[in-house]
Parts: sequence; C-alpha cells; structure tokens
Amino acid sequence: MKILQKGFNYSQDGPGNRLVYHLQGCNFSCKWCSNADSIPKDNPKAKDVSVSELIDEILRSRMMFFDGGGVTFTGGEATLQADELIELLMLLRENGIHTCIETNGSSPRFAEITEHVDYLIVDMKHYDDAEHKKWVGSSLTDVKKNIEYAFSSGRQIHIRIPVINGVNVDPTAFAEYFSLFNTDNAVFEFLAYHEYGKDKWKGKYQIENGFVSDDVIKQFTDEFKKHGLKTVST
Ligand code: SF4
Repeated sequence: MKILQKGFNYSQDGPGNRLVYHLQGCNFSCKWCSNADSIPKDNPKAKDVSVSELIDEILRSRMMFFDGGGVTFTGGEATLQADELIELLMLLRENGIHTCIETNGSSPRFAEITEHVDYLIVDMKHYDDAEHKKWVGSSLTDVKKNIEYAFSSGRQIHIRIPVINGVNVDPTAFAEYFSLFNTDNAVFEFLAYHEYGKDKWKGKYQIENGFVSDDVIKQFTDEFKKHGLKTVST
C-alpha cells in the first residue's frame, strides 16, 4: 500500500488512542485540503508497504491502543486502495484490532469496504451537487448514495462537515437533507475551517476568508438538534 505518513492521536480520528495511517492518493481536490501532498496518486515521499508489514507493525503497537483505540485509515482517500485495504481490515478483525476509516464517501465499493470496518467516519462537504463539483472537483451523487446506504443499513456512521465561510455555511440545507432519513445510528460533527495545510499548496491555495466564528458552529449544532439529529464534538 502507498502510505504517506503515520502517527498516533487520541480520539480525533475514531475512539481512544489510535495509530493513524494516511494513504496516498485522492479522487477529490478540495480547495481547502490540509493534506494537499496526499492528493496525487504518486508521491516520492509515500512509502510502499505490504499488508503483512503493516500487520506486523500494528500488532507490535497493540499496547498503545488504550481507551478503546485501534487503527485508522485516512488519506488522501483510503478507499482508493480497496483490495489491500479490505485484506488488511479482515486480518485486523481476526486479530481483534479495532478499525476505523475516514473517507470522502465516494467509493463505488463503499458497502464492500465498510462491512469490515468497526467505526466509520464520512466527510460531507456540501449539500448541493454543482457547488460540490466547484469546490471539490467531483460530483456529490456517489457520496449521497453511500451515506444513504449507511443510514438504511442501520450501521453506525459519524458524518463530519467542514464548515467554511463562503462555501457551505447553510446549516438548514444540510439538516433538511439528513432529516429525510432514519439517522438513529448517525452522529454529526462540525469542523471549523482552519489553514493548517496551507503551506503545502506552495502558493496555489485558493480559499480566502474561510474562517467561521464559534457562533456559526453553534448555529449548525442548534439547527441539527432542532431537526432531531445527534451532534458530537471530538
Ligand atoms: S477528500 Fe480529503 S484528502 Fe481528498 S482532497 Fe478533500 S480534504 Fe483532501
């Protein structure tokens, strides 16, 4: 598998203390991406690591997975390496390791992959297809289809919305869409815009005035609650 970077974090990408792998390559090109160097399919900084090498490394790290922790695969877009990812997820489940993926939700193999995942995080960046294409470079259709599949299958799903001034600040539009479905097994989180990865764009960053206030995040939380949707903050 092509891995750009790895490291531990606590409860930001799934529960407990987790070993997080950033896989190389993404099919989206979000204009605010904080991991822009993870977007190209190839990157000389990414390492080719076999599934068996990863299993060895993860099992050696087992003592670190405290407080319900485990392993998270993110990106880039982890589902682009679906065959190896599924093999790895199956082996981790056999070994009793808790797994999580954070995905942009567009994979045509979403159901097949997520069947092997313990904790699923899906990012949804816009409620409107034309705007999604404009900011992300790809259609929203597959993302919606996969999110709706997760709702209907009753599996746990954690949906994250990056809230960006001038891009998607319409809590009602998001909440009205989600409230069309049974979201008993879903939680929603709002991530205020930041510019941590701006330097990686090497002067080509295109978002201006993207920051939102705490009040805007509160408006999202209040609107979602008003629609009966559960919100979380990690
Ligand atoms: S989906 Fe994630 S990794 Fe891919 S471009 Fe968007 S923010 Fe970056």
